[in-house]
Amino acid sequence: MIIELRPELIRMTWKDFVYHQVIEHCNYTGSRTFSLQEILKEKLKIFQSYRPNNKHTEAKIRQQLQVLRDDNLISFLDNTGHYTLRGIDLLDAEKEEVSSINLTKETPEKREYLVETYVRKVKWAKQAIDLLGHYCLFHDCKNTFLCEDGKPYIEVHHIIPLCHGGEDRIWNLSVLCAHHHRMAHFSDLETRKSVKKFLLEEIVVRI
Ligand SMILES: [Zn+2]
Ligand SMILES: [Zn+2]
Repeated sequence: MIIELRPELIRMTWKDFVYHQVIEHCNYTGSRTFSLQEILKEKLKIFQSYRPNNKHTEAKIRQQLQVLRDDNLISFLDNTGHYTLRGIDLLDAEKEEVSSINLTKETPEKREYLVETYVRKVKWAKQAIDLLGHYCLFHDCKNTFLCEDGKPYIEVHHIIPLCHGGEDRIWNLSVLCAHHHRMAHFSDLETRKSVKKFLLEEIVVRI
């Protein structure tokens, strides 16, 4: 069965079309991490409708993901077959929440810190707080304050940053107080390394 697609979609190149579908998929799941299998499961009919005569849709998508990776638009997470949609294109839920800051001026690391700090509603942030709680993981730090909703203030942090190919999955997420979150991003290299090592070990115990 062929789905009728909008003409502007049909006119897209394979690369742009795959990228467009990946962004749509990530907006739908609320996560920047995805796998080829997930994309195929959700989107196969759409891809077949885009170029009905192509008999090798799966191979074509795989090839285009490689092209997107070469262009640094996505990165490949070798061990699990997952990809991560990289920085610049924020998901809809994120855009809404960070609309007050101008992210285009920021470096990828700073941008990631700002997004992590401001975003509360997206799936990965909720999942981390549900599982890890409202208190900073760093050496059982209790540094927090109560928010308007009566809950302790907490920030969600990607242990390996997305802009360095980290995943939007629970084993790469941690919760930190504002002070230790800044430390994880902006301290000297040795300190940053030790925070990362501590969190990677701590997360294994917690989840
Ligand atoms: Zn962070
Ligand atoms: Zn702390």
